[in-house]
Amino acid sequence: MKQSAPFLGLTQVLERVRGTTSKNEKVGILAEYLAKLQPSDAEVAARVASGRSSERGSKDEAQVGYSTLLDVLREATGATEAEVSRTYLRHGDLGEVAEELLAEKKEQTLFDEQLTLAALGDAFAKLRSTKGQGSTSAKKGVVKSLLLSASPLEGKYIVKVLTGEMRTGLVSGLLEEAIASAYGLSKPEAARAHMVLGDIGVFANRAARGDVSGVRIQPFRPVNFMLAEPFATAAEIAEHFGRTVYAEYKYDGIRAQVHKSGRKVRIYSRRLEEITSSFPEVVASLQGARGDFVLDGEAVPFEGGRPLPFQLLQRRLRRMEDFEAAAKKAPITYFAFDILFRDGKETVDLSLAERRKHLAKVVAGTTARMAETVDVSTQGEIQAAFRRSRDLGYEGLVVKDPDSLYGMGKRGSGWAKLKEELDTLDVVIVAAEYGHGKRAGVISDYTFAVRDGDQLKTVGKAYSGLTDKEIDEMTEKLKEITVRDFGYRREVKPEIVLEVAFDSIQRSGRHDGGYALRFPRIKRIRTDKGVSDIDTIEKVEKMFSGQKLKVDER
Ligand code: ATP
Repeated sequence: MKQSAPFLGLTQVLERVRGTTSKNEKVGILAEYLAKLQPSDAEVAARVASGRSSERGSKDEAQVGYSTLLDVLREATGATEAEVSRTYLRHGDLGEVAEELLAEKKEQTLFDEQLTLAALGDAFAKLRSTKGQGSTSAKKGVVKSLLLSASPLEGKYIVKVLTGEMRTGLVSGLLEEAIASAYGLSKPEAARAHMVLGDIGVFANRAARGDVSGVRIQPFRPVNFMLAEPFATAAEIAEHFGRTVYAEYKYDGIRAQVHKSGRKVRIYSRRLEEITSSFPEVVASLQGARGDFVLDGEAVPFEGGRPLPFQLLQRRLRRMEDFEAAAKKAPITYFAFDILFRDGKETVDLSLAERRKHLAKVVAGTTARMAETVDVSTQGEIQAAFRRSRDLGYEGLVVKDPDSLYGMGKRGSGWAKLKEELDTLDVVIVAAEYGHGKRAGVISDYTFAVRDGDQLKTVGKAYSGLTDKEIDEMTEKLKEITVRDFGYRREVKPEIVLEVAFDSIQRSGRHDGGYALRFPRIKRIRTDKGVSDIDTIEKVEKMFSGQKLKVDER
């Protein structure tokens, strides 16, 4: 095998990518670089360029907390705590702090050995496999030795990847384009292979090998989920489809892709993370099913023929209680609504009507269930199905075109969702404050933001909606991810996603998004979503003008 390429080359390329706002130029620069790499290097480079240190779908992440990284930076550069926080205040980005501190490093270590992409990949693998007791100090050791052998520019990107904050403007679509262009793939070919492989690094590796045409869905390689388009009324849905379609309950649980091969079952979340150990009942219910398959569905807390409140799932998801306690509180039923692969063949290109026939055969005889479907066509029928769903305790409806294919990763027009409360937004916490009175001593006020391109813009502050227990847990978590501590107020790494309901939207000079949500209430903590899944300022603007329209009409 050829020698692995130096990591420095990639960091220089990423700097050039950051330096231009032209999407074409970003793609061109990266494509030219990738084309020269051997497959295993292309894998590491593409993954790093996407801001990840581990393969999507892997159970283990190379997570290193902010406070650990700050410690390591001090140790590796000899900087004092005050120096680090001064530098941070200037940049607001830990990667750039690393670059500056490494450049001024007091004990300059001389290194003649260059850090290669392969060595970087190995170090990330080591971080992933370091778990349990003593793992923090072992991880520190790995990061420290990486930083000691890194140039300032390399240090910057190592820290950027470990904090998940690349800010190169290289969204996944552009990376996909660069890989397509580097290895001579058409756009649709690249899109499909990327979708099926899930991970950008694995995709780059296969593309570099010239081995993309044979890429197929296979068990234990999660693929991106099909998403539904939101509609405000039954009338709009009836008009959108204009014919007889399926209405399914919108189950309120956790989206789960269940893969089975032989007797082995694995479960993946909407973010393509493995969550098998959180749902042993789902494993048990499908282990005995016939054949191999990949199913899409919802893991729902369900008892006595009715759904239980979603909140009962939260602790289980954060692995805060043992399984027996969790199962007693909220036993799970898996409601399957789709099938992507069965016995060696993809089923995504069959119609939904055909897919449901396959699904029925797989689920028969197990304790998993198929999502219930009724045929609807008129506004009245959709409205009636919606009412029934709400009366039974479901969230609403997902209405589906029986002829539609499974659009991996697409918010397609084939699926339409109807919920009671339209006015919720998915936002991320960027800062938090200690509460008052009964809430003194706990961090209970959360400032939240939506996305604006690759930036975050604040649009409100939420105080209510969580239980005392949840606030205690939140307090702990927020302390862990604090970036700047101002005493009563903390800035935190943007990673906790909340779904907030609110009464209306106002223009506001107090938040840098230019809007403020009125009376925001936390509906739930969306552990299934990451910062890239949150809503955008465009959506806020759209809701704002929609609401104005309604007021004007009145
Ligand atoms: P939401 O915040 O409404 O859950 P989302 O962004 O997670 O939305 P969407 O695809 O927009 O995802 O909405 C559909 C969601 O509804 C799915 O993610 C899935 O978790 C859930 N769901 C419940 N029942 C069904 C069903 N029968 N078919 C499809 N999705 C369903």
